[in-house]
Amino acid sequence: MSTPFWAPPPEKYPGRLPEKADVVVIGGGIAGVSLLWHLSTRRIEAVLVERHHIAWGASGRNAGFLLAGVASSYAEAVHTYGRSRAREIWDVTNENHDRMIEAARGQDVGHRRLGTAILPADDSERALLIESEHLLTEDGFEARWDGTRLVNPRDGEVDPAAMVAALARQARPGTIREGVNVTALGPRRSDVLVVAGEDSCEAGAVILATNAYTPQLVPSVKIQPTRAQMIATAPESSRITEMPVYSNFGYRYWRQLPSGEVLVGGWRDTSLETEKTYDDEPTGEIQEHLDRAARDLGVKADVTHRWAGTMGFTESGLPMEGPLGGMPNLYICAGFTGHGMGFAFMTAKQVAESI
Ligand SMILES: Cc1cc2nc3c(=O)[nH]c(=O)nc-3n(C[C@H](O)[C@H](O)[C@H](O)COP(=O)(O)OP(=O)(O)OC[C@H]3O[C@@H](n4cnc5c(N)ncnc54)[C@H](O)[C@@H]3O)c2cc1C
Repeated sequence: MSTPFWAPPPEKYPGRLPEKADVVVIGGGIAGVSLLWHLSTRRIEAVLVERHHIAWGASGRNAGFLLAGVASSYAEAVHTYGRSRAREIWDVTNENHDRMIEAARGQDVGHRRLGTAILPADDSERALLIESEHLLTEDGFEARWDGTRLVNPRDGEVDPAAMVAALARQARPGTIREGVNVTALGPRRSDVLVVAGEDSCEAGAVILATNAYTPQLVPSVKIQPTRAQMIATAPESSRITEMPVYSNFGYRYWRQLPSGEVLVGGWRDTSLETEKTYDDEPTGEIQEHLDRAARDLGVKADVTHRWAGTMGFTESGLPMEGPLGGMPNLYICAGFTGHGMGFAFMTAKQVAESI
């Protein structure tokens, strides 16, 4: 059974689909609550609907790393997207970190900014990380190759479910409605008709913040559901790592909370095909890798939580944002390719500004 480590948001937001709305946001993860936050600062009336509860999806099940950039190293990003686009992506994710934490000001979201370390798995990754340090420094970013790993001092970590809860708490009463499963979307004059079972709503605009689940509503959207698995242990008396660690081209990662618990995730690279799924149950095979990894790190404490979540991968590795072709007034803010905590707040800002 999937038992995420992070406590779900304590507040409950039961509700139904309204009959009319200026904007309907579908999905109550970090993207959805960020959209609501930006729309309300622009005085746009919006309703967010979520079929389970907020932070039920990947946003309540992730590792909580706040990393600059995409899954690949800066050097690879420069090769893939070009130098100026890579620089823009790193800039926007650094800004995402600052602004998202600022938006949660005064609330405990478990934020720490001790940096992250990227450990190379082999010589080719080592060469890419050394090249990344040069390129990042030349482009004005802080980065340090210390002989064994690339340290990004501006990176950080949060409790992701607490982050979602902190943004949701700022929404006007009645604007978040849990337990609303949107089953269909269609054009209705200049509006979008949103259907949830027996209920329907005429919305001036609809934003899909449904990440991995987007193709279930709009099959033409190319987002690949991709499972990621984790474990967490009881508090470990020894210090395993002082900062979150990311390794093997992002396929493996671990961190330790100030209270001692160790979280280990990834190892999807050992079974890539089985992990292309909506099934969010942990598997014996990958869980064994995670157990071994924890032991290899020197963790003696027992495993207390095992879980999986569903990420949404795009072909480009970058989020999809803005109007979605095929239906007027339908927008998307999804496809975070395993990095939604690092991107979604700013992606949501862009989408809110385009409405
Ligand atoms: C194990 C794991 C570790 C990760 N580690 C990190 C990390 O360290 N750092 C990082 O930046 N990212 C990480 N990620 C990725 C990150 O969690 C996601 O990119 C991010 O949470 C996506 O947020 P979202 O709001 O777009 O989607 P989600 O959080 O998945 O939210 C989508 C919501 O939409 C709702 N929904 C879907 N369809 C409907 C419908 N028809 N009607 C109503 N509601 C609907 C779902 O119930 C869900 O709650 C990790 C992911 C996993 C699974």
